[in-house]
Amino acid sequence: MADKRAERIARLIAPLRVPPGTEVDLARDYDPRYKAHLKKREGRELLAVGVELLAEYQARLAAQDTYGVLFCLQALDAGGKDGTIRHVMSGINPQGVHVSSFKVPSAEELDHDYLWRYARRLPARGDIAVFNRSHYEEVLVVRVHPDVLDRQQLPPKARGKGIWKRRYREINDWERHLTDNGFAVVKIFLNLSREEQRTRFLKRIDLPEKNWKFSAADVRERRYWDDYQRAFSEMLSATSTKRAPWYVVPADRKWFARICASAVLVHTLMEIDPQYPVIGERARADLRTARRELEEQAPEGAPADPYAAERDRRARTEE
Ligand code: ATP
Ligand code: MG
Repeated sequence: MADKRAERIARLIAPLRVPPGTEVDLARDYDPRYKAHLKKREGRELLAVGVELLAEYQARLAAQDTYGVLFCLQALDAGGKDGTIRHVMSGINPQGVHVSSFKVPSAEELDHDYLWRYARRLPARGDIAVFNRSHYEEVLVVRVHPDVLDRQQLPPKARGKGIWKRRYREINDWERHLTDNGFAVVKIFLNLSREEQRTRFLKRIDLPEKNWKFSAADVRERRYWDDYQRAFSEMLSATSTKRAPWYVVPADRKWFARICASAVLVHTLMEIDPQYPVIGERARADLRTARRELEEQAPEGAPADPYAAERDRRARTEE
């Protein structure tokens, strides 16, 4: 059963993975409307399976306390990052997940190297850290807007020609360091079409309850669409690695994007395959001693072990 599910998930996400070392041209290679012949109803079932599996694996990840997961989400405005996080993480124990949203950097953040603020939000062992925007902004928005780079107070040598190639390498090295030390790095790009973005912005203007989500800055940013497409294509080509591949998730249909995001995360956890710790003979002997002590405290007429008594009663009625 679990193997069947694992297979289905692997099949669903395989076409979304950016093969390391390939030259990506977003518009040519990835269709934002792709949906793998799935119907919305099947999609709902599949997402429910993903949510359930995620809860199960996350509990094991936390119990084992050996591996951690970094889940990075990148998208253009209105790409659906928030909704994706909300749906994909809906079944998870909140204690094991930390979401960090990265906005325009503060003065303190600008006073450090560009990876500093992301490093501070990395997951602990046993945890899943979600990055809503991520260190990849450092080769996206920072690349599209040279004045943002100006604010980073870099010494002249660090900002010469070749800066983007160097940042790609530094990011790959950083991620390699993380994966080598037990932290899986999962990267998702929600790939929205230009027309779907226009529709979503207009919806935010048309519906009063969505007005708060609309920002005039988003429409200004849209003018740089082609620059972003180029920056994304180059970033995907340079930083999809064997250990930390990128997944380009078709984002024009929100329901499909959520299934894919969930599937990518579940797939990662299945590969880690965390296990509940098995306790040793000493600890088992301690459990036996504690059991005897608790059983001796049973009040008059109560079973020595009410839990075991109830379990046995159930087993008998099921027979
Ligand atoms: P929402 O969906 O709620 O709009 P958001 O992620 O777009 O979420 P905002 O507060 O609207 O959040 O915007 C964050 C802004 O911060 C974006 O415009 C993004 O380009 C900018 N930003 C993120 N990282 C950096 C960075 N390293 N340097 C400069 N700007 C950045
Ligand atoms: Mg925004």
